[in-house]
Amino acid sequence: MTVPPLEPPRPRDQVFLRVCVDLAREALDVGDEPFGSVLVDAAGEILRRGRNGVGGGDATQHPELALARWASESLDVEQRRTSTVYTSGEHCPMCSAAHAWVGRGRIVYAA
Ligand SMILES: [Zn+2]
Repeated sequence: MTVPPLEPPRPRDQVFLRVCVDLAREALDVGDEPFGSVLVDAAGEILRRGRNGVGGGDATQHPELALARWASESLDVEQRRTSTVYTSGEHCPMCSAAHAWVGRGRIVYAA
């Protein structure tokens, strides 16, 4: 596994991070932890979105993990490699590993 080099932000990154923050707010409003995430393809289309769901008792209900699972089932290798995962906070080790295993591209997070 190789670690890709850091690259400067792209103009549309803030747009997708705003969607993540809105999803995080939705999660917080219903008693979950405030995390939201979207998966965006190379053309800039949101393919999938999700928010934290640990309030139901399953501590693995992170949106980033759900996106990794969906990408593994729904996208081919090239689509995963060229996609970007945006999230409202830095990935936890579980979600970082999941995205590495499915071979996704960039990860962009708000801090
Ligand atoms: Zn996580």
